[in-house]
Amino acid sequence: MARGKPKAIRIPAPPLAWWPKGRRMTKPVYNRLLVCASLFHEGPESRVGLHHRTGLPISRLSEICGELLRDGLIRESVVAPPGGNGRGRPQTLLEIDLRGLGVACVQYDQDHINAAVTDLGGTLRWQRRWDGPFEEDAQRRLRRIARAVTLAVDTAPKLGVRIVAVGAADPGTVDIATGGAVRAVNVPGWQNVPVAEALRKATGRPTVIQRGDSWQALGEVSFGAGRGAQNALFVTLLEGIGGGIVERGRLLVGRDGSAGEIGHTRVSEDGPPCGCGGRGCLEAHVAPARLAARWRQLPAEQAEWVTLRGEMPNDDFTQMLQAAREGDARAREILAEAARALARGLGNAVSLLNPERIILGGRFVQAGELLLDPLKRALPEYALGELLQGIEVRLAELGETSAFLGIAADARDRLFAYPSIGARFGEAEANL
Ligand SMILES: [Zn+2]
Repeated sequence: MARGKPKAIRIPAPPLAWWPKGRRMTKPVYNRLLVCASLFHEGPESRVGLHHRTGLPISRLSEICGELLRDGLIRESVVAPPGGNGRGRPQTLLEIDLRGLGVACVQYDQDHINAAVTDLGGTLRWQRRWDGPFEEDAQRRLRRIARAVTLAVDTAPKLGVRIVAVGAADPGTVDIATGGAVRAVNVPGWQNVPVAEALRKATGRPTVIQRGDSWQALGEVSFGAGRGAQNALFVTLLEGIGGGIVERGRLLVGRDGSAGEIGHTRVSEDGPPCGCGGRGCLEAHVAPARLAARWRQLPAEQAEWVTLRGEMPNDDFTQMLQAAREGDARAREILAEAARALARGLGNAVSLLNPERIILGGRFVQAGELLLDPLKRALPEYALGELLQGIEVRLAELGETSAFLGIAADARDRLFAYPSIGARFGEAEANL
């Protein structure tokens, strides 16, 4: 099934900052990408099998596979002949070697910077963390972040990993079209910062940025609690609530990259005030510091404004969970109430998104069944039965590394997309 390939294909530029304008793809690059995509999506295959799959002549395929083998992008394995009776010739199959390709990642907030190298098979290969607090302006902080990710890029060759892209997990809202951080409420001064541009300049690699919660969603779906699901909603509880949406295996980002900000959906009319200026946001009902303050019986006005930075060992929320496990009725009641607010928020999200899995991360994992059980009991009140049927609500499995694995999954999916679809890293083809 020979298919004519145009000599040069203009790829429609996706709305991503690192895409080189007007870039054309050459036929040899197209063919390499086609072979890689076929091996990744359709599985290991022999050269003859690849000829049938792609329509490329055997002589061309031998050349391409030779190059890809030399570059360490694919590997050969010899398997027994089909049939299993020991007769016939063993087959040589080619397969993608995801361990040799990877991404350099950086994740940051007010108090820390975390850099990592993750291979495209989903293994975290190297990680380093710097703890602050970093009291400095956005420019200096950006330079610090660029140095951290540059160290990851420089470390990768020692691990046998070729870096195809750089990814940033931002703590606030982002504009994925410009690659900039828009605003992070928890990081003073972090406003309109050209993160992707700075990291691209520092590393020479195509760079993507997303909200950290979105990367976590993709990481969990690709390598964690969402494995096997194509459509999932990820919700995480830290100081507040964040989330991300995966639709047909890809991130649903919305106009700018803010799709999934479920924390500020309203679940009550005159509920507690929220840090965003509104009232009755899901986050205002479920923030760990608020719940713990109520359990400590702080006056309502005081409890409404209490904040808690990060998860501290044995902080008030941890103690409250411990008390609930030991049967403290007040703690259990407060958690059940929070679970009802969560059910309201998630019920609305289920009606909008029709997911097959809901993954709860961050401190939801710490609370475990204390929130999960009342949540599962309450959900049927807030969404259609047929939509809820078959939805699995699970706790996240990957912890804070999920953002790095999400960046790796994104790079992998772009890189090995069929070239006719064209959804890939612009310059990364040079690395293939
Ligand atoms: Zn809010």
